[in-house]
Amino acid sequence: MSIASRIPPEIFINICQYLPPIDLISLARVSKQFHGYLCSTDSFTTKEIWKNSRITFLPFVQMPPPEGMTELQYVKFISERGCQFCGKPRIRKIYWAFLVRCCKKCLEDRTIRLDQIRYHLFSQNSVPDDIDIVSGLTFITGSAGSGSEKIKRRPSNLYWIQDVHKAYNEFNELSLKDRQDWIIKKREEGRSKMEEVIKRELENENEYWSKTMENSRKRNDRVITIDNLIRKETNEFGFPRFKMSVVNKCLTYNKAMGSTSTSPFTKRAWIGFRNKLIPEYLQMSTLLRLQRQEIERNLAIDVAIQTRQMDIIKLIFELLRPEIDHLQSRQRQNSNQSMDDIDMERNSSSSSESNSDSDDSNYNLIKRMECNEIFESSLIKFLPWCPSFRNPPFMNQDPRILWDDEFLMNVLIPQLREEAQYLKDHPAPIETVRGAFLHGGLRNKRIFKCKLCHHYDNNLNPPKHYSFYEIRLHLAKSNHKVRMINDDSMIEVVPSQINTTCNAQIFPRNKPDLFFAAGFNCNLICNLLS
Ligand SMILES: [Zn+2]
Ligand SMILES: [Zn+2]
Ligand SMILES: [Zn+2]
Repeated sequence: MSIASRIPPEIFINICQYLPPIDLISLARVSKQFHGYLCSTDSFTTKEIWKNSRITFLPFVQMPPPEGMTELQYVKFISERGCQFCGKPRIRKIYWAFLVRCCKKCLEDRTIRLDQIRYHLFSQNSVPDDIDIVSGLTFITGSAGSGSEKIKRRPSNLYWIQDVHKAYNEFNELSLKDRQDWIIKKREEGRSKMEEVIKRELENENEYWSKTMENSRKRNDRVITIDNLIRKETNEFGFPRFKMSVVNKCLTYNKAMGSTSTSPFTKRAWIGFRNKLIPEYLQMSTLLRLQRQEIERNLAIDVAIQTRQMDIIKLIFELLRPEIDHLQSRQRQNSNQSMDDIDMERNSSSSSESNSDSDDSNYNLIKRMECNEIFESSLIKFLPWCPSFRNPPFMNQDPRILWDDEFLMNVLIPQLREEAQYLKDHPAPIETVRGAFLHGGLRNKRIFKCKLCHHYDNNLNPPKHYSFYEIRLHLAKSNHKVRMINDDSMIEVVPSQINTTCNAQIFPRNKPDLFFAAGFNCNLICNLLS
């Protein structure tokens, strides 16, 4: 004898109190004794077990079982899946009017339209009115039911064929004088039965809607999880491994985003997903790169230079992503901490990282990001004046050749970072464009003059003063049509006139314009709106 079957009935019943119907159903399959406890048809205790379980665990099935159904049958009817006639799996549609769970096809085979009943019964003389025989029956409204295709398009009341036969036979066996009473009695019965059916349908419908809402929430959670895992994935240098602009084009990714699955995305699923995504990602990157290279082979030199410079900025922003997220959360934690403190902490965490191998904690991930910041966001404003940005080391001295990401990440961007730090530590004089813009806090003051405009008569036509953004727009858009703005050979700074000049009136509003206003020469490759 197994231990399970030696459990005394009282304890068994006690345990059952805490089990949902679906577990009780499997428990009944465990042993003969359990089956006996749970599937007895005349035991009050059995009935109570199922009833309690249903009321506790099935919030949308609180009504008592329909007439003629035991608690056990009721619970199975609701919880089990599949067509009760043909066995088609996963069917969960319940027709409360007929107390069946079935597929569309089986419903169609077993129901009949009200307007077809007379024709179907084929004994017109003894049928008073279709509606009179079926008035005690429950029905659904739909456009299915047996009958020709043409008829089926109009919706009608649909009756269960077996019920119709039963009612018809009952009616026929009555003596003529009893029939009128029978019809009246049936009408009353039909009305109250339909009321019950509608109540059950409503209860069930609530379940349907709450499940639908829950499923859409689960799908959404899953999609967010996948997206986050992709963004957190780092390469061997600790930088984000995937560019979302490339990931967006991968089939594996798009399939996952469009998936209707509601199951949580497990670690195992992620490993499988990543193994599929990586080769596809690499292939897609190579393809996109080849396409770009093909197009850019014929660019004008100055357009190509600006394109390469934009590549640097794009990659920096792509790699800045975790730093931005991380710094923001750090700033919330401790707004007083200086940059020096952060640097110290970064160094100490990188030394302790080597002795930890576990790869599944976010903790390590964050630590890896901390020691691999490629470029501080605070240094970006110095970029336009970094020598290696203005005159980048092009592959074969040809700006039309794309850099590969590895060169950018490991050589050029670290170099730029050093140069930016140097510019930060060594402010330029305020009379230079860089000094006025970066250190003088004068970007919005109209202290810049155009060196290309000729001011022959200072009295009649005094030189105009511009803000930094305005002078750049003037150079690029006026009849100068400058393609590559070169600060100090084209712009004169007059800081002495701060007090007599007013603030700028034009401000950049959108992205390429903002970059342009910050000193990046992107006028040849972006559509500046101003
Ligand atoms: Zn079926
Ligand atoms: Zn028939
Ligand atoms: Zn000018």
